[in-house]
Amino acid sequence: MNTAVKVALRVRPLTLQEQISNCSECISYVPNEPQIGIVGSDKSFTFDYVFDEERNQRHVYEECAKELVERFIEGFNVTILAYGQTGSGKTYSMGTGLQYQGNPDPAIVPRAAHAIFQLLDAQMEKDPSMEYQVYVSFLELYNEELIDLLQTQPRVRKDNIQVREDGFGGISWQGVKEQQVTSAQELLDWLQKGSLCRTTAATDMNQTSSRSHAIFSVILKQQRSEDPEPTPEGEEDDAVPVVTPKTPHEKPLKKLASKFHFVDLAGSERLKRTRAVGDRAKEGISINSGLLALGNVISALGDESRKSSHVPYRDSKLTRLLQDSLGGNSATLMLACVSGADADVSETISTLVYANRARNIRNRVVINQDFRDSTNSEIAQLRAEINRLKMENSSFRAMGSGPATELDQRRAAEEMRSLRGEVTRLRDRLKESSSELCDVLAERDTLLVEREVTGDADIEAHPIMMTYHHTVMQLKDRLIAAEDQALELQTLLSQKPSSVFGRRPNGPSRQKAPSPFKRRVEPMTDDDHDADGEHEDQRRKDSSPPRGRTAKRKSRQSSRAVSRFDF
Ligand code: ADP
Ligand code: MG
Repeated sequence: MNTAVKVALRVRPLTLQEQISNCSECISYVPNEPQIGIVGSDKSFTFDYVFDEERNQRHVYEECAKELVERFIEGFNVTILAYGQTGSGKTYSMGTGLQYQGNPDPAIVPRAAHAIFQLLDAQMEKDPSMEYQVYVSFLELYNEELIDLLQTQPRVRKDNIQVREDGFGGISWQGVKEQQVTSAQELLDWLQKGSLCRTTAATDMNQTSSRSHAIFSVILKQQRSEDPEPTPEGEEDDAVPVVTPKTPHEKPLKKLASKFHFVDLAGSERLKRTRAVGDRAKEGISINSGLLALGNVISALGDESRKSSHVPYRDSKLTRLLQDSLGGNSATLMLACVSGADADVSETISTLVYANRARNIRNRVVINQDFRDSTNSEIAQLRAEINRLKMENSSFRAMGSGPATELDQRRAAEEMRSLRGEVTRLRDRLKESSSELCDVLAERDTLLVEREVTGDADIEAHPIMMTYHHTVMQLKDRLIAAEDQALELQTLLSQKPSSVFGRRPNGPSRQKAPSPFKRRVEPMTDDDHDADGEHEDQRRKDSSPPRGRTAKRKSRQSSRAVSRFDF
């Protein structure tokens, strides 16, 4: 279960006295938002719940306490803390004070008491094997001393009650009376008895002000069967009958123990405001130190980042008592109570700041939070996009077909230049060889004619002519290969120059790695046209010239074929 501390803010209406003395409202509300502002200031605060003065006891209970009662029955520890200055409505909201018991609009504790027994009875009906016991205890913490309000014996204030840790993080209160109760009414009777004993004294702020923290606890011990496994849909009819049907008593049982603490904290007002002296001042100091420790504990628990893993439970008796109900397997609700009167505005603001700290959310949370969230998600998206592109880039590079860098382009251009140079050289050589060949062929023809004329059949081609012929053939082949490579390179460069190097990472090597595109039909370029022009001359000499690029190849081949045929 989520252990987050939730905070509810309740604003009490102006009292008759405040209305008579012309007090006005100091709190403004944001419609449909759990957010409030302070009139005449730019301060605003956001909580989990906000209850304005119109909200009645039932509404408060159903909104924020009902769910916690259900958790308690499920076996979780639960704590509700009422915090605020004296006279802000803590005891009124909790219902732990004598004056509020029997109220027609019951407060949280009486409503919870009834709900606990109703839920347990409902559970019993579903699960006859269930057994439970409910106990109550009522402690007062006054000047850092613990008083058991249910002890009928004369109070012994010191060393009577011990708080022990069981080594598993569990806290037990030794020496505290746990009174078993069997009904909601019995539970409330014990609450009333304890309230009678509670230390109260008059201060300037509230005629019946409570100068101590009061912890009313309900302890539930239950034994119930594990929840039965749900039958998979559609299997009811086909299910194989169980030979020995299990009776409810044969089901595995679980034992649960949970605690529900209702804490009515002493007034949070600063000492000087009460004009307290002597014993009253001493009370104020210990109250404030207890509340400070409680605030620190709740802040540490509410810190989602958990930068400080240390939760200062041992800083006060209050936090030590509530250790296993604050954090861990527990749910905590802080009910911050404030007066809406402008005369109390400074105490109201200090309560709001304290409660807000517990919730670990800064001022103007709603707007800033939304803004921050959308920016964050945008940044996260952009980061993901950058990472994706980086990965894509590196995988392209690994494949050698990544986007061209400046270096790649320079290398491709250099290779292109050198290939063009070679093509030109080869063309020149071919021209020379072709004219030599023409001369030789003319000489041969002359000799052939002479032989026919003279009738000498033994005349053979001179070895020099054979050498010429081979040289011309070789040059032609090399020229064709070089032209093809130049074309291929030019096409690739115009698309993605670096891919040239991707295929030939060790640089071009025409002899070792002949181009796979050697016989592919490529689009013609200006160079092709130039070359074509020159070939055309040659072809005209060899045979009738075919047209176009494919025709050019045919021409080359036929040119070779003709030559071979000739020799
Ligand atoms: P605290 O316990 O914080 O010192 P109380 O609970 O005793 O204060 O409340 C002080 C006074 O304010 C009481 O007279 C109470 O009836 C009245 N009061 C507090 N909260 C409300 C409320 N929500 N609606 C009406 N009256 C309230
Ligand atoms: Mg009170």
